[in-house]
Amino acid sequence: MTRPNVYSGAGLDRADHLRGDEGAMGRILRDPATRFVAVWRSQNLVAASSAEGPTVSWLSGENALAMAQRASEQVFLGLEAAQSAATAYVALDFSEHEMPLEALALDGLSEFRDLREVGALLPQRDGSILAYARGLMHWHRHHRFCGRCGAPTESRKGGHLRVCTRPSCGHQHFPRTDPAVIMLVHDGEACVLGRRPGWPPGLHSTLAGFVEPGESLEEAVAREVLEEAGLQVPLAGIRYNSSQPWPFPASLMLGFHARAERAPLTVYDEELESANWYSRDTLLNLGEDDELRLPRGDSIARRLIEDWLAEG
Ligand SMILES: [Zn+2]
Repeated sequence: MTRPNVYSGAGLDRADHLRGDEGAMGRILRDPATRFVAVWRSQNLVAASSAEGPTVSWLSGENALAMAQRASEQVFLGLEAAQSAATAYVALDFSEHEMPLEALALDGLSEFRDLREVGALLPQRDGSILAYARGLMHWHRHHRFCGRCGAPTESRKGGHLRVCTRPSCGHQHFPRTDPAVIMLVHDGEACVLGRRPGWPPGLHSTLAGFVEPGESLEEAVAREVLEEAGLQVPLAGIRYNSSQPWPFPASLMLGFHARAERAPLTVYDEELESANWYSRDTLLNLGEDDELRLPRGDSIARRLIEDWLAEG
């Protein structure tokens, strides 16, 4: 249960104490050893396609310092411990550039890609750093104005806070993460998988949904299973498994195994096209061209299924 899920495990020291230290932030932004992580409209910078698969394009050196000046946001991500000195990581947002690769003189060398396409192919640490950068930049782009009074906000604390510029308001806005529960419901022998309209052919996955205000995680699990599949799940049978940052755009997935009595399933709302019980044997013996396909390897849904199969 200790294996980190994809998009976690960056291992950075987030160094909260440095965020409010303008001198330290300035030195990091002038240090050619700083590693910059470029983000453009929810995409991350990776090396142009190669046979070995994707690799991250970290920007560093004197050229990168000049590039950093052309970014609309600079967010301090943290420090990576090394033998002699720690390397700082800073995310840069180039979303205001129509042609970002030209602006960075990286045409042909690097490309901006959706993390969902490349994340599972990157080393764990790299995928996690890109997810962190992408998530924070999404938050910045969607919090340019104060939700309380409508005035513009500005970035502070190394990009981990936005403050309303209207003196009579001054409201502080912190980065948001939306909790969502995702659960494999089972009776010991078989588990529930559902299918949403529009998914790739054959794909089935665990049930999931957002936590609502005034609700515990267990209550959210039970409610979602009842809403989506018409099945009663006793709160006492719900066990936490693991979690996964899912910055597509701003979720934290909280994964559970939920034990329930087997009963016929009913798809009530329009979220699911179908939901069924699948035996362990069926899932362990899936063929390549089987009509039933499990969720992708980078998802916590897959991990919940695999952990349950391994318990059998
Ligand atoms: Zn305000």
